[in-house]
Amino acid sequence: MSANRPQVLLLSLAVTLALSACNREAPKADADATAAAPAASAVAAPGIDDSKLPPAIRFAAGDLDTSKNACSDFGGYVNGKWLAANPIPGDRSSWGAFDTLAERSLAVQHQLAEQAAATKDATGIDKIVGDFWSTGMDEAKVNAQGIEPLKADLAEIDALADGPAIAEYLRKSAAKGDNVLFGFGPEADFKNSSMNIAYATQGGLGLPDRGYYFDKDKQDKLAAYEKHIAKVLELSGVPAADAATQAKAVIGFETRLAKASLSSEQINRDVSLYYKPISPADADKLTPNFPWTKFFESQGIATPAMFSLAMPAFHEEVSKMLGDTAPATWKSYLRFHTVDEASPYLSDAFVNENYDFNSKTMRGQKEIKARWKRVLGAVNNGAGEAFGQMYVKVAFPADSKAKMETLVQNLRAALKARIEKLDWMSDATKQKALAKWASFTPKIGYPDKWRDWSGLSTSRDSYIGNVLAANEFNYKWELGKIGKPVDKTEWGMSPQTVNAYYNPSQNEVVFPAAILQPPFFDPNADDAMNYGGIGAVIGHEMTHGYDDQGSRFGPDGNFENWWTPADAKGFASRTDKLVNQFNGYEALPGLKVNGKLTLGENIADLGGLNTAYDAMKMAAAGKPDPQTDGFNRDQRFFLSFGTIWRDQLTPDYMKVIVNSNEHAPGNFRAIGAPSNMPAFAAAFQCKAGDPMVRAADKQVVIW
Ligand SMILES: [Zn+2]
Repeated sequence: MSANRPQVLLLSLAVTLALSACNREAPKADADATAAAPAASAVAAPGIDDSKLPPAIRFAAGDLDTSKNACSDFGGYVNGKWLAANPIPGDRSSWGAFDTLAERSLAVQHQLAEQAAATKDATGIDKIVGDFWSTGMDEAKVNAQGIEPLKADLAEIDALADGPAIAEYLRKSAAKGDNVLFGFGPEADFKNSSMNIAYATQGGLGLPDRGYYFDKDKQDKLAAYEKHIAKVLELSGVPAADAATQAKAVIGFETRLAKASLSSEQINRDVSLYYKPISPADADKLTPNFPWTKFFESQGIATPAMFSLAMPAFHEEVSKMLGDTAPATWKSYLRFHTVDEASPYLSDAFVNENYDFNSKTMRGQKEIKARWKRVLGAVNNGAGEAFGQMYVKVAFPADSKAKMETLVQNLRAALKARIEKLDWMSDATKQKALAKWASFTPKIGYPDKWRDWSGLSTSRDSYIGNVLAANEFNYKWELGKIGKPVDKTEWGMSPQTVNAYYNPSQNEVVFPAAILQPPFFDPNADDAMNYGGIGAVIGHEMTHGYDDQGSRFGPDGNFENWWTPADAKGFASRTDKLVNQFNGYEALPGLKVNGKLTLGENIADLGGLNTAYDAMKMAAAGKPDPQTDGFNRDQRFFLSFGTIWRDQLTPDYMKVIVNSNEHAPGNFRAIGAPSNMPAFAAAFQCKAGDPMVRAADKQVVIW
């Protein structure tokens, strides 16, 4: 979905830690399976025309801005010239290393989808992808259908008379995979990571964070949101005058939800907020107007002995609102979100309004994405891992996996040596940290076992019909995991996603195929490039196991405290310095990066780059260091790292990221970790006092 709706994120991605802010809104967890993985071919398969793919960014000495000094403005030196010459394309809100690879992945997907749609009598995943594609691309048919596909659902909302009827509607629509109000799904039990339990989280807001409903500096976005609500209601058939009044009521409704919600900073910096085990009977007492015993029953799953009612204050407020909010307001809220969520798959008027608010107003995008890119977004949301089976056959050379495995092993060895040498940690805590180190699971490229898609029925009749069928299918598949052992072969991202993640409950680091390309990884590049690129990414994901939240999980992925009080204090004094460092970065005039919100990612960047540097030194020991383009190995390592964080954002998108995302903008990630490393200063012969050399008392080393 294109809207910024945190509640559609399934739990597994809410607790896992992704590498980049890109795609944070969209991906759904997929995985599980039956069919055996196909062998990835070593070369592009016949049928994929490589010349049609947009070029990837690679480090090139000619891109360096030699008018800038690496010691004072490393980001400008490495990336400034390229960024100035490559403005953000009109259909995007950011542009850089991740985005160019995402465009490349889309171009591959484009060819695959066309082939799937053209396959006669297709079955299995070819049929699913082909049906999504051909119905999505049939703009005339989608336009002719207008809002017709939602008519029955809207009539049901119109008929709601009181709180109990609304609660019943919420249960019924949730069972179809359509829950606008809160997140619900499986995740490993924090205290028993081999078993899945159900988690219910906060949700229900149409803006990226609770602060948007109160903060003075975000009132323009709140006003634009109110207008958007009115417009969507009007498009759905509500008379204009009523639509404006109803929009005001919806804003009041969501403001009340926002007051009962936690902020992005709170959620990201205290993972324990997700874990509030309770019996359904006790939960019923907390939320009498929304009984959980009934909810479980209505979802078609056995009522468990316990589940996590995360963020209970939010759910208590929802229950109160079922008792004291006018049904008319509930109906406006449900009508708006039902239409808004479906808008990308409806006729042009809905599509354009959706773009206008979510992409243009909120993210500063200048033009709507071409239809084919939007349709591919829908395929990825609905059947991402099915599509991924096709993707890896043509876009993931088999030898990439072997080369990555070596890199991961070398990074592991370097991390072990770093932990053993830490001067601020007692031996007792080190032993625990090393036990955790020993149980890391790396996943590279694509799942060993693919998920079974045989229950998903798609057709050539209706685009939104296919989208809704996939929503329901995926939701039921997720619910099927509750109360069952965790399937450790599952992936939380599809192979065609340009990103990576760490999952604390399984202590696993995961690298989808699509990120294993330049500038991150190139099987033919020298060590310096790969260690400064994907090496730093591998190190980043491993360090998440030891960031402020990951370090609250033990070797088996259970939530447990393995720290001595003195070591915990030593850790906090180091992380405080990193908070201060990032608090000092100004993203836009008057808008500072939030060092606390981004702390976990910044710990991971710093530990990851240090570990990658050590791993490169170990791999290069005894080897000659020939200059390449006039740069030695250490210099090229940092130049490669700077290149992967080559990124620019529109000012509007920058505001969304800074206010609600746990990742700092890329330009600060390019300089944040290197400026703490003496190896960087040595590589570029920087002096004390240079901006890229943090003063000794401010320099941070954690892992
Ligand atoms: Zn991360």
